[in-house]
Amino acid sequence: MAELAASRLSSADVSSSSADVSSREARKLEQQALRLAAEAARELQRKLKAALREPSPERSADARALLEAHPEETAKLRASAAKAARVKEQQEANATEVEEDEATLRVKIAALADMLREAKHAVVYTGAGMSTAAAIPDYRGPQGLWTLHNKKGGGSSSAAGGARNAPCAARAVMGQSFAETRPTIGHLALAALVRKGLIKQVISQNVDGLHLRSGVPPSKLCELHGNVFRERCPSCGKEYVRPFDVTGKSSFHRHGTERACERKVCNRAELRDTIVYFGESIAPADLSTAMEHSERCDLAIFLGSSLKVLQHYKFIWQLPPKPQRKRMVIVNLQPTPKDHAAELRLHGRCDTVLEQLLVSLGMPYLPYQPAKDEVLKRQVEPARGSELMRSKAEREAADAREEAEAAASEASLDEAGQGPPTASAAEAAVKGIDCGGTPG
Ligand SMILES: [Zn+2]
Repeated sequence: MAELAASRLSSADVSSSSADVSSREARKLEQQALRLAAEAARELQRKLKAALREPSPERSADARALLEAHPEETAKLRASAAKAARVKEQQEANATEVEEDEATLRVKIAALADMLREAKHAVVYTGAGMSTAAAIPDYRGPQGLWTLHNKKGGGSSSAAGGARNAPCAARAVMGQSFAETRPTIGHLALAALVRKGLIKQVISQNVDGLHLRSGVPPSKLCELHGNVFRERCPSCGKEYVRPFDVTGKSSFHRHGTERACERKVCNRAELRDTIVYFGESIAPADLSTAMEHSERCDLAIFLGSSLKVLQHYKFIWQLPPKPQRKRMVIVNLQPTPKDHAAELRLHGRCDTVLEQLLVSLGMPYLPYQPAKDEVLKRQVEPARGSELMRSKAEREAADAREEAEAAASEASLDEAGQGPPTASAAEAAVKGIDCGGTPG
C-alpha cells in the first residue's frame, strides 16, 4: 500500500516536473518569437524611413513597392515626420524677432499710456529681454543662452551643462562681471514710473540686480529668482546687498556664500545667495509678495519675457471674474504663448517702448546716477559680513543640510499648489530663472 502510494507520488512528481520543463520551454520560445518580431519591426521601420528619405520623383521601384506594401506604417511615419517639421518651424518662428515700425509702435505706446493712467494697480513683470541692452544675454533670442545651446546640439534647454547655472553661463557670455553692467534707459524709465506711483510693483525674473540699481525701491521690487548681489541669513532672514556678485560658488542646492550673519543670535550662521535655479523653489517671502500683487493687479505689463517660464506660475493667470478681469500688455520681440490673451501686443525693444512711454506721459527722463546705485554705493562702505573658514567636511555637511531643507520646503510648497514649474514644464526641461538673467 505504502509502495503503491510512493510510486504514484513519484510518477506525479515526474509528470509535474516534465510539465514545468515544457512550459518553461514554451515561454522561452514565446519570448524568442517576440524578440524576433520586434527586431523584424525595427528593421522594417529602418527600411521604410530610408525609402521615405528618397525624394519621391527619384524613388526606386523597390522603395515604392516597400512603401505600398506597408501603407499603415508608412502613414504613421509620414505623420510623425510632418509633426517634427511643424515643431521645428515653430521653434524657428519663436527665435525670430519681429520689430514693428515706429508709427505703429507710437500708436500702441499712446494706448499703453492711457491704460496706465486708468489702472489702479499696475504690475510689471520683466524677463531677460529687459536687460539685453545692458549686454546681459537672454535665453531664447537669436543669441540667447538656450538658442546657442540648442544649436550646438545641446538638445532641449534642459538643466544640462551651463544652462543650469545661469549666472555662470551669463557671465561667460558677457565677458564682464555683473557689477560692471549698468542699468539701461528702460530700467531707468521703469524706475521713474514706479516712483511716480503709476506702477505699483515690479516682479522680475532677472537676477542681474539692475532694477534695484536703477532706483526701484526694494519694497516695490520682487526678484522671483533672486539677485546676484543679495545674500540672506537662513536663520533670521536678514538680507545683505553687496557691491559684488555673491554667486561665485553657487550652484543647484549649493547656496552657501561662506560669509556669516552679523546678528549675534544667529551664531555665525552661513549666509546664502538668493538665486533660484531650475527645479528649486521661489523663496516663500518673494512668492507671497508676487501672489499678493498679482491678485490685486488690474493691469499686467510683461516686458521682455518669452513667458515660457511665467506661463507656468498659476498665480499670474488666475484671473478674477469680469468686470475686475485684469488687462494684459505684452512687450516682446518674439512671439509668446500668451499673445492671444493680451489686449495690447507690442513687438518692440523694452528700452524704446519705455523711453517713449515716459514722453507720452509727459514725464522727465532721469539719467543714471552711480552715486545712487544701491550696489555701487556700497563699494565705498567698510567691508561687512565676516568670512567663514570651513573645512571640506564642514562644507559637505552644510551642503547636505541645505539639500534636506530644500527638499522639505519644496514638499510644503507643492502641497500649497505653488511649486514653481520645472524645466520640463518650461520646455520639456528646466524651471527657470531669468538671469537678467536666468531663463524666461
Ligand atoms: Zn541671521
